[in-house]
Amino acid sequence: MVTRMTDDHAAPHEPASDTELFIDFANTLTFDDGAPNDRVPDGTSLHAWLAARALATSASPSGAQRTLLAFQSLRALIHDMTDRVAADQAPTATQLRRLNRVLRDGLHYHQLRASEGGTNFTVGQVGDELDQARAAIAGSLAHYLADHDVDRLRICADDGCRWRFIDRSRSARRRWCDMTTCGNRAKVARHRARARQRTES
Ligand SMILES: [Zn+2]
Repeated sequence: MVTRMTDDHAAPHEPASDTELFIDFANTLTFDDGAPNDRVPDGTSLHAWLAARALATSASPSGAQRTLLAFQSLRALIHDMTDRVAADQAPTATQLRRLNRVLRDGLHYHQLRASEGGTNFTVGQVGDELDQARAAIAGSLAHYLADHDVDRLRICADDGCRWRFIDRSRSARRRWCDMTTCGNRAKVARHRARARQRTES
């Protein structure tokens, strides 16, 4: 016999990460039963998150710390925009302007450099790497909204969770980030409500 010890609150609440960069970045701030859980609260953790996605190869943790506010502001913008889209509302003109500004700030160009003898070459990039990292995240949202079915952009139906995800299920009716945590919690709550109704009637 297998004894199962399951406790929603003790288990780390972390559904599988998404392939869309803006979703992964939005989910660095989530809620566990309403309590905020920031996975990139400082320069070191933000730098590690970016480095794991090849978005910080020359930038340093102290550089990430200096631009922490700009990343947090982008994350808040993505939260606000996805809140609206998931509620079938268009992003506001101000939101579009702010997103476009992040895209513009990531401008960069390539430069060919010859080695000392002139027969070996490297291509370098000119531009701020962390500005480009924010533009890459913003660009992922821009391309998603332009090229994909926006109806599939969802926010977990559990008010204490608010995990963002893309519903890739065939039926396109997924409501929770994870059936074993939030989905199960909703099922248990429905079950209790029904049981209560039965005893009251
Ligand atoms: Zn959830």
